[in-house]
Amino acid sequence: MDLNKLCPEIPKVELHAHLNGSLSRATMLQLKRYYADVGITDTSDAFLDEFQIGAGDTRNLSDCFQVFNIAHRLTRTPEALAMATTLTLKEFQEDGCCYIELRSTPRETPFMTCRQYIETIAEAMRNNAHLPIKSRLIVSINRTSSIKEAESIAELAISFHKQYPDIIVGIELSGDPNVGRFEDFIPALTSARFAGLKVTLHCGEVCNPQEVMEMIQFKPDRIGHGVCIHPDFGGTEETWQALCKSQIPVEICLTSNINTKSTPDYNSHHFKEFYKANVPVIICTDDKGVFSTSLSQEYRICADVFDLQPAQLAKLALNAVDHIFAEEERKAIKEKILNFINKNSLENV
Ligand SMILES: [Zn+2]
Repeated sequence: MDLNKLCPEIPKVELHAHLNGSLSRATMLQLKRYYADVGITDTSDAFLDEFQIGAGDTRNLSDCFQVFNIAHRLTRTPEALAMATTLTLKEFQEDGCCYIELRSTPRETPFMTCRQYIETIAEAMRNNAHLPIKSRLIVSINRTSSIKEAESIAELAISFHKQYPDIIVGIELSGDPNVGRFEDFIPALTSARFAGLKVTLHCGEVCNPQEVMEMIQFKPDRIGHGVCIHPDFGGTEETWQALCKSQIPVEICLTSNINTKSTPDYNSHHFKEFYKANVPVIICTDDKGVFSTSLSQEYRICADVFDLQPAQLAKLALNAVDHIFAEEERKAIKEKILNFINKNSLENV
């Protein structure tokens, strides 16, 4: 089967997508129209052109975190946030995604509290439960926040997990990896885990072997990126062996790593080493709006750069399902992908 056809058509799962970073230009324009209609001053105008970061962009990883402020200006009211959620789910669905875990940091705005922020996304997901795409929410803790703030977000996540067990499935740590220490967030993450939430951590985005070891020893359900873990990429033999032994699945975001300069180019991306060593990997987008990509495009790039055959790519999509947080959805999604594999004779790897 031709890759041009395979990548969009194969049922895929997206496990690492930040809501605000995933807003497409079309969604942002629709949100701007909404602000005009309701008469709320739109302060994002001068900044919209700065939202997308391409490969040749000179901005680095830290600069990229500033870019999110632009999206944040467009998701200030509950109505806009609900619209952003719905439109983003539909875009992923159109791209052949059948299950998504969106993540977002609860934010207080002049129009809503942190509690309303999570509630709005959860309600929008429930209202879209009839769509073929199944959606869940991972609540994010930003590592630049204080321990007190992190603890209150964990408490919120726990109470919402009880209220919306069908929607809120996990908690994660993200934000500028040059700021804050992982160990400070362990109590908040641990309380969430005890309450039944799954945990994923942005791990090894910058060279910090001690923190990578602490994270692996914490045994999260998944990690994101994992750039500086292999010794050739800023990790050590110890971090690499620990990851291989742990078999913790890694959310791989190719274009994001290139565009933030975490990785110099696609050919030297650490995916190659992980795949060779049988570390479980899941192809994800991270911020499809900011990095002008899509999940099917990431699959396509992966196949092209690492010379994967259609059957191998299909196997990647299938294996990713083992790592979704909504365990009750796994069987049906696997069946969907297996049907696609059988129909297109992609069984042989
Ligand atoms: Zn991320």
